[in-house]
Parts: sequence; C-alpha cells; structure tokens
Amino acid sequence: MLTRAVRLYGADDLKLEQFELPEIKDGEILAKVVTDSICMSTYKLLKQGKAHKRCPQDVDANPVIIGHEFAGDIVKVGRDWQGEFKEGEKFAQQPALNYKGSLASPGYSYRFYGGDCTYCVIPHEVMELGCLLHYGGESYFQASLGEPMSCIIGGYHANYHTNKQDYRHDMGVKPGGSVGCSM
Ligand SMILES: [Zn+2]
Repeated sequence: MLTRAVRLYGADDLKLEQFELPEIKDGEILAKVVTDSICMSTYKLLKQGKAHKRCPQDVDANPVIIGHEFAGDIVKVGRDWQGEFKEGEKFAQQPALNYKGSLASPGYSYRFYGGDCTYCVIPHEVMELGCLLHYGGESYFQASLGEPMSCIIGGYHANYHTNKQDYRHDMGVKPGGSVGCSM
C-alpha cells in the first residue's frame, strides 16, 4: 500500500514523502488515517530530534512518521485479529503504549505507524496492549482529541504534588520542607 507521510529525520528535519508500506503480518492491521490533531509534544520532538527520549537513534536512516492524535478506518485486518476487528470500521487509539517498559510510541518511534500519513500499519504490540479501540462516534476529530483531553484531565489531577502512580494528594506540612521566594 502506498502512503504519503510527514517523516522526521532529525531535529528540525521533516519531509513529506510517498513510499510503500510493508505487507501486514498476522498480528498487524492496515489503517487509513482520517484525522490527526497537532500536539505541542510533536513540536518538542521536532526541536529535540534524537535527544528526545522516544526518538530512535537511527532516525536519520530510518525516519519516523510524526503525529499521535489520530483516528480513521480499518482497511485490512491481520489473521490474528480478524475475530475482533472488521475491515471498514472506525478506530480510535491510545498512543501511550509502554510495551514491556519500552518508550516507543506512535508519532515518535515508528517507521510505519503514526498519524501524519494517509495509511499506516498498526503493530502487534498495540493490539496486544488493547490500545486499538473500536469507535462508534460520528466524527473522527473527536476520537483524535481523546489523547489531548486525557492530558488535560491528567494535568488537573497532578496540580498538586502527587506521585506518578495514583495521583494521591499528600496534605500537610512536609518534614524538613521549606518555602522560598524567588524575588
Ligand atoms: Zn498529544
């Protein structure tokens, strides 16, 4: 399948290119991207290039597709997932993968999986993690905005000093704590 994608080759180095996607394997899904909202995190990746923690070190030779807030249609389903997903149905996705401790995520780390393209290949780890979601909404952009909305909600939960696991809010005076003023 021919795709047209915006790919990152390094810091401040984006190219719009057309290339052939590999044939999907049994555990993968071919998808058509309809919407992809633009995120400031993508701008950070563009500015940092290889210094970004999710960016592969060989990105200059194997560029990644940018964009992680996307939704669209499922075009072809690999054999392993044919009981669960159907060709032609809409999808949404959860882009923060965390597969076996890896930081790899769509929009930062994958050659054939990301949002700023016409077609992409959804890899097996996304399927195994349950991060590909059935979507029954009317408009694609609402599904694209799922990830930024979750960031806003998460931001409110983390307005106080909390731990990263459960956002528990520890009240009261911290032993040995101090209050300073920068003026
Ligand atoms: Zn985002």
